[in-house]
Parts: sequence; C-alpha cells; structure tokens
Amino acid sequence: MPNLLILGGTTEANALARTIADLGIPASYSYAGRVDTPRSQPLPVRVGGFGGAEGLARYIQDHGITHVIDATHPFAAQMSRNAIDACNSTGVPMVALTRPAWAQQGGDRWHPVLDVPAAVGALSGPAQRVFLAVGRMHLEEFTAQPQHRYLLRLVDEPRALPLPNADVVVSRGPFTVEGDRALMERHGTQMVVSKNAGGTGARAKLDAARALGISVVMIDRPALPQRTELSSVAQVLDWLAHSGVNLGV
Ligand code: NAP
Repeated sequence: MPNLLILGGTTEANALARTIADLGIPASYSYAGRVDTPRSQPLPVRVGGFGGAEGLARYIQDHGITHVIDATHPFAAQMSRNAIDACNSTGVPMVALTRPAWAQQGGDRWHPVLDVPAAVGALSGPAQRVFLAVGRMHLEEFTAQPQHRYLLRLVDEPRALPLPNADVVVSRGPFTVEGDRALMERHGTQMVVSKNAGGTGARAKLDAARALGISVVMIDRPALPQRTELSSVAQVLDWLAHSGVNLGV
C-alpha cells in the first residue's frame, strides 16, 4: 500500500495534491508553516519542520512513508537537502517536482547575481524605487541598502517590517502582467529584485518589467546535490507507476 509524502508550499505541489487525491492514492501534504492561512488541500495536511534530515527520516519511518515527492520552492534548499539525505538513509524513493528556471529573452535587462547577499550588493548606489520581490524571509538583509524606497508584496500583513522605507502590498499570486505593470507604474518602480523561481505564477513581474524597460536583479537558484528532477505532474505519475504504485486508471 503506497503512502506518499508531498513536501509542498508551491503551485506545483498543489496541482500534484489535487491529482493524487482524485486518483485516491494515500498521501499527505507537508507545509513549513510560514504563512498565516495556508491553502487548504484535498489531502491530509501536516504543518511545521520535521527537525532536520534526521527528523524527516524518523517521520518517514514512523508514518510508513513509501515515496517522497519534494515539490518545495527551488529556493527552499535546506528542505530539499534534508529530503535527499533522509531518503538516502531510509532507502525511500524520492523525486523532485520542480520548474525550469526562467531564461532571459529579448528586451530583458537582467543583472544575474549568485545569491541574496550579492543582490544586496547590487543595490549599492543612489536611491531608487525598488520592487523587492524576494519574500518575507530575506527582507532583513536589505536593510544594508536603506537609501531605496522599497515596494514589497507579501502573502500576509507583516507584523514588523525591518525596512522602514517601504510600501507593502498584501497579495497572493498568481499575478497578471497587466496587474503587475499597473502596480509598478503606480509605484514608479525603477528596478525589480527577483529570485529565479521559474514557473508561471510569479513571472508576470518579469514580463511587466520588460514592457516597461525596467532592469531586474535576478538571483540564481541555490545549488543542490544530484537528484531526479521532474517538471510535470504527469511525469511524477509515470515515476510512481514505475515505482510500483497502482494508479488505478
Ligand atoms: P528552507 O529554508 O529550505 O527550509 C527551512 C526549514 O523549514 C527546513 O529545514 C524544514 O525544517 C522547514 N520546511 C521547509 N519546507 C517545509 C515543508 N514543506 N514541510 C515541512 N517543513 C518544511 O525553506 P524556505 O525557503 O524557508 O521555504 C519554506 C516553505 O515555503 C517551503 O515549503 C517552500 O516550498 C515554500 N516557499 C518558499 C519560497 C522561497 O522563496 N524560499 C517561496 C514560495 C514558497 P526542519 O529542518 O525542522 O524539517
């Protein structure tokens, strides 16, 4: 009897959960617990960290998990490393459901940087209006560049903001190019800082930036150890079928 564990928090994980639930395959969905009101899921949900790779390995054994699908965000590197280690130590098969990185296209004005500290460094210089689209967790690091007026788009209303010179928009994707273009025009955005998340849900700001001729500081993805990466729910179903899961269809 299969018992899948989906490591979630992304559009891809949500789509996979829907399909797995429709097929009636036993599975659960794991959230880190970063947002106040996570989306409801058609599968049993657990919330919170496992306690490192060892904690996840224990969880896998205690709950009889047969397959792990790491569908976390490409920047959730710690969780992904833990999943690799825990699945190696328990011998449970694991696959990553992830999205190809975005690639620059004609008209884009990207400044690729290696990581968040490099993005902070790229913002040295005179004050600008910066759309800082990096999520809540990294805001503190940008206090090193206090000269800018920041536009922040966050899932939850922030309780405390490390950046004093900031306008906050509380909103949850997916976003549209028209909406993001209007947002940037309204705020007089001169520069965008983005993680190279890939996928469709967050790409509207890049299309809007291209249309407006705005430059983008693009943060590269963190490197991960070798793992099997798939980019669609259909591929995950194929992988499950090859791993002996009866899809019943
Ligand atoms: P991270 O730095 O890789 O993870 C830090 C710790 O959070 C992990 O070691 C783990 O704690 C816990 N954790 C992370 N994802 C978890 C999950 N799905 N279920 C249970 N525990 C989880 O991750 P992050 O960048 O903070 O992202 C946290 C979550 O937000 C992820 O689920 C990710 O898919 C989602 N998300 C992240 C981003 C982003 O830009 N990073 C964007 C959108 C959504 P323990 O070590 O205690 O197990």
